[in-house]
Amino acid sequence: MSNQFILFFILGASLFSCTVQKMEFNKNKVIAHRGAWKANILPQNSLASLQEAIDLNCEGSEFDVWMTSDGVLVVNHDADHEGMVIEETTYAELLEKPLPNGEKISTAEAYIEYGMQQKKTKLIFEIKPSRVSKAKGLELAEKSVAVVKKLGAEKWIDYITFDYDIGLRVISLDPKANVAYLMGDKTPQELKDNGFFGFDYNIKKVREHPEWIVEAKKLNMTVNVWTVNNEEDMRWLLDEDVDFITTDEPEKLFSIIQ
Ligand code: MG
Repeated sequence: MSNQFILFFILGASLFSCTVQKMEFNKNKVIAHRGAWKANILPQNSLASLQEAIDLNCEGSEFDVWMTSDGVLVVNHDADHEGMVIEETTYAELLEKPLPNGEKISTAEAYIEYGMQQKKTKLIFEIKPSRVSKAKGLELAEKSVAVVKKLGAEKWIDYITFDYDIGLRVISLDPKANVAYLMGDKTPQELKDNGFFGFDYNIKKVREHPEWIVEAKKLNMTVNVWTVNNEEDMRWLLDEDVDFITTDEPEKLFSIIQ
C-alpha cells in the first residue's frame, strides 16, 4: 500500500468515526426529571440542572415548555413563574424575576442550544398543554417543532406531552420525531396506530397495566415511566427492562444499575 492510500484510509476512518460518534447518546435508561436538581438543590429546569444531568451521564434530561403571551417558548415546570402566569405574561416581564441560582428563565431555544454542545444526553422536550385554548397548545406544538428544526436539533430531541392533539400535531409536522404520550389513557396499540414512538406513563398506571410493557415491546415501541424515585419501583422496572426511567434521583438509579 502506498503511504498516500494509508493516509486517505486513516482520514476516511476518522471522518466515519466522527459521524458515528455524533449518534452515540448514553444508553442507561436514566432520564433526569426537570434536569438533575434534587441532590444539589438546583432550580428545576435550569441550565445548571441540565448540566448536572449531563455530568452524571444520564441518557436523557427532561424539561417543560410553555409559551408566553408574546409567543416566546420558555422552560419552566409550573404554569406560573414567581407568581406570574406564563401564558399571560411577556418574556420581558418574566426576566424581571431570575431563578434562585441567578439564571434567567431560559427560552426553549437557548436551552436546546446549550444541550447541543454535547452529544451524550438527549433532551426530552415536554410540550405543556395550554390553559388558554386548544389552539394555543397547537401553536406551541408548531413553534416547538419549528425551533428544533431551526437549530437542527432533531437527533437530540424526544417529545412528550399530556395533550394527545399536541402529540398528533408534532407527528404530522415531523413524522420522524420520537413522540411519547404521558396521560396514561391509551393502549400501546392505539399509540402505535397514531404514529407515537412510545408511552411515558406514571408509575401507578404502569403498575396497574404491566401488560402494556409487554404489548409495547411486541409493537417495537418505547416504554418510559415517571416519576420513579422509589428503589423498589426502580428495581421492578429494571427487571421489566423498560427503555427509560424518569426520576428526580438519577444518582440513586445509577447506584442500583451499577
Ligand atoms: Mg415534565
